[in-house]
Amino acid sequence: MSPCSGCHAGCCRSFAIPVTGADILRIARSESLSFWDFIVRWEDSSGSIAGNYVPHFYFADEPRTPFAICLKQVESQQFSGTRRCRFLDESAPEPGKPFGTARCGIYGSRPSACRVFPTRFESNSPLVVLNQVPERALPESAGAIYQLCPREWTPRDVDIIDGPQDLAVARYEADFFQQVAAVWNRQVLDWKLFPDFLEAVYSDRVREAQPVQAREEVRETLPFAAPAGKPRRRAA
Ligand code: SF4
Ligand code: SF4
Repeated sequence: MSPCSGCHAGCCRSFAIPVTGADILRIARSESLSFWDFIVRWEDSSGSIAGNYVPHFYFADEPRTPFAICLKQVESQQFSGTRRCRFLDESAPEPGKPFGTARCGIYGSRPSACRVFPTRFESNSPLVVLNQVPERALPESAGAIYQLCPREWTPRDVDIIDGPQDLAVARYEADFFQQVAAVWNRQVLDWKLFPDFLEAVYSDRVREAQPVQAREEVRETLPFAAPAGKPRRRAA
């Protein structure tokens, strides 16, 4: 049985969850939500959120501050004064479970960062390894609700098909989002323009096949036919 079964999900309470553009569009579509319902920009000057996984973005109102794009957090409905991912479904405390149990409310469309935790690809290898999960990600003074996994993960806890495939998708989408950031950061526009920009870039990522010569011309415009000054919408 996965360590997550019956857990109170300290991970979904402790971490700022970084997302890619694909995560955002999938959740918006599956949950019928707008970007502003579930996304925040999170200052990440120390690089502790994004790491190598997702990029930093810069915005006109704070052009020197690196931001990671993350899921919104809200106050817990069960445990006041504590925080949780806005998509976490919680239960009330029960005997032996002072923080109840919790589950992801968008499990089928959860972001890659959640899907692959706590795995990574081994260096220069297609094999999957488990990262060691610390007992807690926040100081003890923050409270026991932020404790992480109740037991150590073992290789048997990760599906041998889904585990590597989820990591491969996560890597592809993280690489793509890095290129999205490189385009966005050329202009450093207003945060409120970001959702339209994302929609424009992602709606253009499946194209008709081009003849060889045209393909060369398209390659000149990679990573995307970047909007010169403002976000671009695909014609209806
Ligand atoms: S999206 Fe789901 S799995 Fe990810 S942090 Fe939120 S509740 Fe947890
Ligand atoms: S804290 Fe660990 S065991 Fe609990 S839900 Fe998160 S990943 Fe699973």
